[in-house]
Amino acid sequence: MPNVLEARRVSKNFGGFHAVKNVDLAVREGSIHALIGPNGAGKTTLFGLLTRFHSASAGSIFLEGEDITSLGPAEVALRGLCRSFQISSVFPGLSLRENVRIALQRRHGSSHQFWRPARILHRFDAEADALLERVGLLPHADRLCSEVSYGQRRALEIATTMAMDPKVLLLDEPIAGMASGDIPVIVELIRSVARGRTVLMVEHNLSVVESLCDKVTVLVRGEVMAEGSYAQIRDNAAVREAYIGTDYDS
Ligand code: ADP
Ligand code: MG
Repeated sequence: MPNVLEARRVSKNFGGFHAVKNVDLAVREGSIHALIGPNGAGKTTLFGLLTRFHSASAGSIFLEGEDITSLGPAEVALRGLCRSFQISSVFPGLSLRENVRIALQRRHGSSHQFWRPARILHRFDAEADALLERVGLLPHADRLCSEVSYGQRRALEIATTMAMDPKVLLLDEPIAGMASGDIPVIVELIRSVARGRTVLMVEHNLSVVESLCDKVTVLVRGEVMAEGSYAQIRDNAAVREAYIGTDYDS
């Protein structure tokens, strides 16, 4: 399989502080790729570079072989590289169905046409309900976002990101803050949304990484320290050392 997303020698400095240093990353089409590393390693910054939310201080980024280093974040999203919680925004005062419908309208370029007749706005309802069903939220479609559980809101965020129909989906700590009982549901959801697309995810829970991910890249102090299968990473002495005293949880 070809690489659908690549970073080549990418760096990001924040006022002289090197948050990301000369990172090479190659994400294979159709894979679930984990990005792990201690807090402050530069994982979220790297996501920001890939999605063009941050401009790179050096290096290049390629999506499906095309150099996207000079594109803006909206263009990159329209080309199919979407980061959950960036493109999607969840509106607490709206119902779950309305939230997904707004995300669909955005993809179809009609997000500023709220004045349109209701019958036009409602043309996305069937598609919204299909996405809600996919994440197990259809029975709650009419409830307000502010009324549902934290786990259900995270599932809604995945549904609104799916509304963009991304080729490559970037998830930054998708299970962070979730009750342990909700974790298997979101893990299955990620597995299901990963079918037919590529997922790059930051994840601290290593049993989740082990069960979901084909490849793991370890970032430490802005640099790639190791890369390989979960078993290769787990047995890497330098990686173990880098995690001592951090939230490495197994
Ligand atoms: P991670 O997601 O791996 O925990 P981050 O990418 O959020 O790490 O942060 C990496 C480092 O860059 C941290 O030291 C953080 O304080 C710093 N950093 C992140 N964003 C900014 C910013 N906008 N300005 C200055 N420093 C930043
Ligand atoms: Mg982070």
